[in-house]
Amino acid sequence: MRGDNASCMPTVSWLILELLFAAVQVSSAVRSPNIVLIFADDLGFGDLGCYGHPSSMTPNLDLLAAGGLRFTDFYSSCPVCSPSRAALLTGRYQTRSGIYPGVFYPGSRGGLPLSEVTIAEMLKMQGYATAIIGKWHLGLGANGSFLPIHQGFDRFLGVPYSHDQGPCQNLTCFPPHTKCFGMCDQDTVLLPLFLNQRIIQQPAVFPDLVPLYHTFAVKFISDSVQRKRPFFLYYASHHTHYPQFASSKFSGESLRGPFGDALMEFDGSVGWLLQALRDQGVENDTLLLFTSDNGPETMRMSRGGSSGLLKCGKGTTYEGGMRMPAVVYWPGKISPGVTHELASTLDILPTLTALVGAPIPNITLDGYDLSEVLFRGGKSKRNIMFFYPPSPKEDLGVFAVRYGKYKAHFFTQGASHSETTPDHDCHITALLTRHDPPLLFDLEADPAENYNLLAGGMKPEYLQILKEIQQEKENFESKMVFGESQLEKGVDPSLEPCCNPDCTPKPSCCHCA
Ligand code: MG
Repeated sequence: MRGDNASCMPTVSWLILELLFAAVQVSSAVRSPNIVLIFADDLGFGDLGCYGHPSSMTPNLDLLAAGGLRFTDFYSSCPVCSPSRAALLTGRYQTRSGIYPGVFYPGSRGGLPLSEVTIAEMLKMQGYATAIIGKWHLGLGANGSFLPIHQGFDRFLGVPYSHDQGPCQNLTCFPPHTKCFGMCDQDTVLLPLFLNQRIIQQPAVFPDLVPLYHTFAVKFISDSVQRKRPFFLYYASHHTHYPQFASSKFSGESLRGPFGDALMEFDGSVGWLLQALRDQGVENDTLLLFTSDNGPETMRMSRGGSSGLLKCGKGTTYEGGMRMPAVVYWPGKISPGVTHELASTLDILPTLTALVGAPIPNITLDGYDLSEVLFRGGKSKRNIMFFYPPSPKEDLGVFAVRYGKYKAHFFTQGASHSETTPDHDCHITALLTRHDPPLLFDLEADPAENYNLLAGGMKPEYLQILKEIQQEKENFESKMVFGESQLEKGVDPSLEPCCNPDCTPKPSCCHCA
């Protein structure tokens, strides 16, 4: 952890630590695998060809799934962006790090606290070169104090939050090959493109982003290989978040309209990442993980994603909001196949920590080491998953619990993001409802959560299961300490990123080539 001692003069003990760290760097360079973490945005369980979508065109992700381990029961920690990303990078529920309620906005005062230990920081301490391309969405703060380069990433090329958090309809109208549709936030600055801490373009030209990321990633990978340093590349794509678009190469090319085009471009970027690893001769020395941050935004109708056979989508704690497509790929190290073992984004940090032999961060973690599942075809240490809504409250606690094959809903609530499907339980009009006894589903027999096992009243055969779930829930909640909310710190328009900080009138003057 960092920060508090940054201004202290080096002491002898600090110098010894530095020497030890340098020694670790040298030894790590010889034996540590490279790690590529690909995170899609609002991509649902049913969106990929390899997860059964009939018209998606995802040949690269399908190849990855065919050559790697594909998960059927892999969960995000939250059905919206910022909390999900915080949990992914820290291995801790978003409630602990204070990433609630909801998501960060362009002028948010808060951010992922610098005291949190991210995957990038953990790997950097092991001598890794680290980079992020794509969407951050864990805060900017005054003077960019929450940007990725303060969270363990050596390099950052990307956008600080979602691309609809600005007047984006103007951008998707230009260049002409990209059609405009829908509305975005209107009263904020145009979306900036950052290189490390500097805005290099405002507005970011959306269709150019993926080609730019490509160039940046290829250089980062080749630089790291040449310097014989293991690397960690976190590719947090803006695809397939609303508004969906693609560069000219993919626009209009899919069978599935704008969403399909965005997905196709995302899939293409997975292809060029794999090619870059092959070109550098490191494909067999690289662990590649792919998943998504939260379920599909069905309110966009056919322009939104699909949760397949799962119930509802983004913003809800039904399966469609929480269960993600996920693949882990490492030729020669991970046997191809499908696993039904329970796993989560929360498990990635502990798994990588074990893999590279790093010390476990001295902080409460919520994840498990998945090595048995990945490398030995064994059982998952995870038998339970707790589901918080986007705006959790301590007095309500978790909304749902997955326990083995069962899932109990103690509260349900619809969400605007999950509008438009025929199931009214998903919609914003489905108000917060407490269930006592909880709704209980057998997710192996009924992954769509159609048939409540307790419909019509309590049944003796489920009493023991409910008792165990209740005990696990109480135990978990008794140890859950909510961190100070970073979102309740509110928004200050003067913190919105501007390439021309002294200009007037804002936000329209924040416009640079
Ligand atoms: Mg998202």
